[in-house]
Amino acid sequence: MAQIQTPQPVRGMQSLLGEEADRFHAVVAAFEKTRRLFGFKRVEVPVLEPTAVFARSLGETTDVVSKEMYSFEDRGGDSLTLRPEFTAGIARAYLTEGWQQYAPLKVATHGPAFRYERPQKGRFRQFHQLDAEILGAGEPQADVEVLLFADQLLKELGIGAGAVLKLNTLGDPQTRAAWRAALYEHFRGRVADLSEDSRDRLERNPLRILDSKAHAEWPVVDSAPPIDDFLTAEAADFFAAVTSGLDAAGVQWERAPRLVRGLDYYRHTAFEFMTDRLGAQGTVLAGGRYDGLIESLGGPHTPAIGWAAGIERLSMMIDAPKAEAPEAVLVPLGDKAEVAATAILTGLRQGGLAADMAFRGNMKKRMARAAASGAAFAIIIGDDELANETAQVKDLATGEQRAVAFDMIAAAVTR
Ligand code: ATP
Ligand code: MG
Repeated sequence: MAQIQTPQPVRGMQSLLGEEADRFHAVVAAFEKTRRLFGFKRVEVPVLEPTAVFARSLGETTDVVSKEMYSFEDRGGDSLTLRPEFTAGIARAYLTEGWQQYAPLKVATHGPAFRYERPQKGRFRQFHQLDAEILGAGEPQADVEVLLFADQLLKELGIGAGAVLKLNTLGDPQTRAAWRAALYEHFRGRVADLSEDSRDRLERNPLRILDSKAHAEWPVVDSAPPIDDFLTAEAADFFAAVTSGLDAAGVQWERAPRLVRGLDYYRHTAFEFMTDRLGAQGTVLAGGRYDGLIESLGGPHTPAIGWAAGIERLSMMIDAPKAEAPEAVLVPLGDKAEVAATAILTGLRQGGLAADMAFRGNMKKRMARAAASGAAFAIIIGDDELANETAQVKDLATGEQRAVAFDMIAAAVTR
């Protein structure tokens, strides 16, 4: 008979168990808690969108659109793409689902995103993001609000000290155009020092050269003119309002005058929370104002701002969460005892106690399993116990054991 080959997982796509899965969910739980405190409404959006949703909004020349998207034709011949991020899909829903009536709309969500990248530490092909957006708000207060949410989330996760907020403004369209022209001049005179990728970016979008990961070109990037030389008075005022909001809330931030975001739709505020704990993958949370995005999807001019954070990267930074353990583990011996144990188990669970049953092996093996589960109590039921309708309840920490009537077990294991 031919040997059946077990299919391997898709490269860069992880399956998690135990501590890794617990870390992941601890991040999501902290996000949910903070989301509620800040009044961001939950939203759910599809994992698949028409390819145009991302191609138009992110910009055809961005790395994500030109190299990283999982796009395919479905059976009906439509080009679909697995979301590489949330913002574009939320903006699409804002337009097609009538969400505009709720502006300013504060929303948050989390889930998988997909990018065809070279997998490495902190970089996967299926990864997961937390996402927060405020749509239909052009006030700097909205920028402050999303930044405070991000800051409090990182503090809630216990990594506030390990991540620094780097903040910049990309100005208004006038600022951006003037800066772009100056960057073009700067880099055009130093083409020899640029990587091939960056030469490509020079003609299409010289701002993106600043986002370079090619270390060799950092000097030519560092000497590029900062945006401050080109800020209009309005853009400078807007940025000042954002920073004074952060200062009022006691949020630490650092100015990063050459920070740009990889995507085309950003205006005004741009930011990243950076860490030095994850090697090359230093950005844990990133975002900014994207006032041009909704128009690029055919909608009305709609200012908006938001951020996304990588759940895997945050998971690696937090302290290991306490492993889950049941309060009690039933240890029955014999078929009849197992039936009685099933009834008791159900009663405990319905009463809100986490409980489990050890159903494999001899008494010794079952007790070992109960202890390994981290449970506080083992509830032992053998033939004698069945006859008396009592169980032996053993405190697994102290080793103390006592007889407890079946109908008193819940009380005996409630601490
Ligand atoms: P990077 O510079 O690391 O590629 P990015 O600028 O492409 O990040 P964004 O598009 O801003 O990332 O996505 C927001 C966040 O999502 C990132 O800060 C990061 O935490 C996470 N992220 C992005 N791509 C990946 C990936 N391939 N694997 C894991 N996390 C990712
Ligand atoms: Mg990237």
